[in-house]
Amino acid sequence: MNFKNITVAGSGVLGSQIAFQTAFKGFQVSVYDINDEVLDRAKDRFATLKSNYMRDLGASQEEVDAAYNRLTLFSDLQQAVENADLIIEAVPEVVEIKRDFYQKLAKVAPEKTVFATNTSTMLPSQFAEFTGRPEKFLALHFANEIWNNNTAEIMRHAGTDSKVFDDVVEFAKAIGMVALPLQKEQPGYILNTLLVPFLAAAEYLVVNGIADPETVDKTWMIATGAPKGPFAILDIIGINTPYNLSAAKAKAGDEGAAKVAEYLKTEFLDKGRMGIQNGKGFYDY
Ligand code: NAD
Repeated sequence: MNFKNITVAGSGVLGSQIAFQTAFKGFQVSVYDINDEVLDRAKDRFATLKSNYMRDLGASQEEVDAAYNRLTLFSDLQQAVENADLIIEAVPEVVEIKRDFYQKLAKVAPEKTVFATNTSTMLPSQFAEFTGRPEKFLALHFANEIWNNNTAEIMRHAGTDSKVFDDVVEFAKAIGMVALPLQKEQPGYILNTLLVPFLAAAEYLVVNGIADPETVDKTWMIATGAPKGPFAILDIIGINTPYNLSAAKAKAGDEGAAKVAEYLKTEFLDKGRMGIQNGKGFYDY
């Protein structure tokens, strides 16, 4: 792996974290976003990240300042990717926006540049043909609060070159991530392939009156040694996301999901119990 210059496209929640973490680990990072106004907001995000790294990782002021100084912000895509070895795309989770981005990027990026998408719910094969370099394209998926939750799921599509895949695995390690390689495309990667049905099973037990949330959590924790049960996890995710997921399934005719959506709406969302973010969900915090 001889990646040196990294470009991060999109400076929102995840893009700013990926850029800062990469710079913190010593890489030169170009950050691209659509205009200077958004990039100004990114500066505020970086200021917050600096204090988070000091608070959570015990980083010194000098270390976070040095990381910040390795970042350069661009609103011109061509300049942002001029010398990039790797570009990590963290633009909005909207198919048309990503497709359009890859079409533009393909025209201006050097031939050597590897493209990686941080998409949570899409697959690299949806965009491979628009990159102009399907063999140098794959997914590199981070978790929110990357400096604490340091997983990197690296997922190839059928056309990804093995050397490129291995290089991105090495890169993920070099920026302090635990690299988790996926040898085939899988919607939801590893984590959500496990977590989504697990949480749905927990909701099933509760909305059908089989057991209450605390009993379900207690069962899981004592029986497996896990530190948290499914309802404590739902509180961390925030009730909005599972509600949206169930509501979408309900719309498609799933009656079980309709029951879950109704329960989450009336018992939680309507009562302002949004999860850990506002201090109350299945539990009070
Ligand atoms: P966000 O809305 O916070 O940030 C998106 C950024 O992209 C914004 O700064 C926006 O100005 C910019 N943008 C819009 N159009 C653009 C374009 N054409 N070119 C470049 N930048 C453009 O979104 P986010 O939460 O950071 O999510 C970004 C990606 O990361 C998505 O694919 C999402 O699935 C993935 N992701 C998000 C999380 C999360 O917890 N938020 C976790 C893992 C992965």
